Amino acid sequence: MKRFSCDQCGTLVTAYMENELDEPTRYLFEEHLAGCEGCERYLAQFHVTVDTLGGLRPEPLPGGMRDRLLSAFRDLRGS
Ligand SMILES: [Zn+2]
Repeated sequence: MKRFSCDQCGTLVTAYMENELDEPTRYLFEEHLAGCEGCERYLAQFHVTVDTLGGLRPEPLPGGMRDRLLSAFRDLRGS
């Protein structure tokens, strides 16, 4: 049974929030969150960050912002 590590979830979080994950990947991502309090909390904080930036637009995030969010997520995880 394939399971995601916390690192894998960290790399997928932006794609998850943009609904870019395919069904099996999304399922595994949510399954990890359900069993990992740390990642669930980080995703919640990630939502706050995105809300602060004005919310997700229908079009994909610009590359720079995407990288910023991803590194912010990594910083949160590292603290
Ligand atoms: Zn985790």
